Amino acid sequence: MKLFVFLFFFLPFCSFSQVIFSQGGAITDFNGIVRTDTFRVQVNNVKENLSPTFGLSKVCINIYHEKISDLKIEILAPDGTRVWLTNRNGDESATLYFNTCFASNGFSGFVHQGKYPFTGEYIPDGRLEFINNGQNPNGEWKILIADLREGNTGSLNYFSLQFEKDPNPNSAQSGCSETNPAACKCPDGTFDCVLLPDLAILERFTQSQIKEYAFDDKEYPGQLRFAATIANIGSGPIEVSGNNQWFCGDQKVEGSIVCPNGEYSRQKLTQKVYELHNQKITSTLVEAGSNYYDSKPGHNHFHVDSWVEFRLLKKTFFNKRKIICEGTKVSYCLFDNGICNGVDSLCKVQGQVYTSQNLLNYGFGSFADCKSGNQGISVGGYDTYGMLYEGQYLDLPKNLKNGVYTLEIEIDPEKKYKESNRKNNTYSQEVTISKQNRNGH
Ligand SMILES: [Zn+2]
Repeated sequence: MKLFVFLFFFLPFCSFSQVIFSQGGAITDFNGIVRTDTFRVQVNNVKENLSPTFGLSKVCINIYHEKISDLKIEILAPDGTRVWLTNRNGDESATLYFNTCFASNGFSGFVHQGKYPFTGEYIPDGRLEFINNGQNPNGEWKILIADLREGNTGSLNYFSLQFEKDPNPNSAQSGCSETNPAACKCPDGTFDCVLLPDLAILERFTQSQIKEYAFDDKEYPGQLRFAATIANIGSGPIEVSGNNQWFCGDQKVEGSIVCPNGEYSRQKLTQKVYELHNQKITSTLVEAGSNYYDSKPGHNHFHVDSWVEFRLLKKTFFNKRKIICEGTKVSYCLFDNGICNGVDSLCKVQGQVYTSQNLLNYGFGSFADCKSGNQGISVGGYDTYGMLYEGQYLDLPKNLKNGVYTLEIEIDPEKKYKESNRKNNTYSQEVTISKQNRNGH
């Protein structure tokens, strides 16, 4: 692939920003197996290592594709840190990322809430600040594009990387961490407590990404699809670790393999529970659930089993619940792909908006990827599964009558993980079903 690399130096106010452009190329269509296209650019002559004070501030792309919601786009830094820029965003008719930039404080808001053609600066689906980790920026950078559905093609016209001072101005960490316990606080105002996570669904994601598909729909026949976003509004991270003990059923096996029943082997997980005592942090490992390798297109990483459960209910007389679609348990990779901030009010749970101002220990934890060994959600972080992700749906029964129903999403339905408040684990919202039973039966 041919590459044209230009270096631009801007020198306003004696602080410089450096922009590196590169040409892209064709994006390979999905044909049964995921093939990720890699677009490379060599960065030279950046004088400083990347940090919160100088680092990668912006990534811009220009893509034409017949269906951009087929695409998962990531950036891979020279040290191997990999961050999602955008993953299956845009509706079915969206064909362009036109001069789309990704920045931690993107003025146009979150890309998953954005609209085609996505012109402007958006907050990416992952966290760019994970790249500003002390690494040397000089080396090969890659844009990775995976087309996750068959039938539509396109190309990346160009992309650019920008390095500058104060690259991620929205981070407002409390400073609380395992190595800096002096900055950590207990919810009851003391300095002697268990720092538990508290998981809750962020309602605005599900409210803005929910769609019913008719039975004659070609791609999603008779499905109710919706997003689910889980935030940690507690005082410690939810953190799980694999112990490298793998099982097919009760049978111990060597590593992540395909079991005789065709499923991947399960790894037992422990949850790391943090405690604060007299300005010291200690932790204990408690038995929790399991994870496994998820080989579905767009995933190809490790998922925690039965992380959420979806149900469709009908409220009958006297508020009795009648289950229409029996619970579907879905596994997730746990990681921070967004943070509760004061700019939007996305982190709203039962009327309360959570930000760095009211979350103690904001930023405690750091979970950037979906590897088998260690996953989690930081304090003030959230994990989004968009409505077009695999598994984000309920199959509506064939004879379902049109009408008003209740969608229920429950986090950790098997109650395998410790947290401070289980009462906010089940989220429900009304949903009007209108496309089924078109003959009026
Ligand atoms: Zn996944």
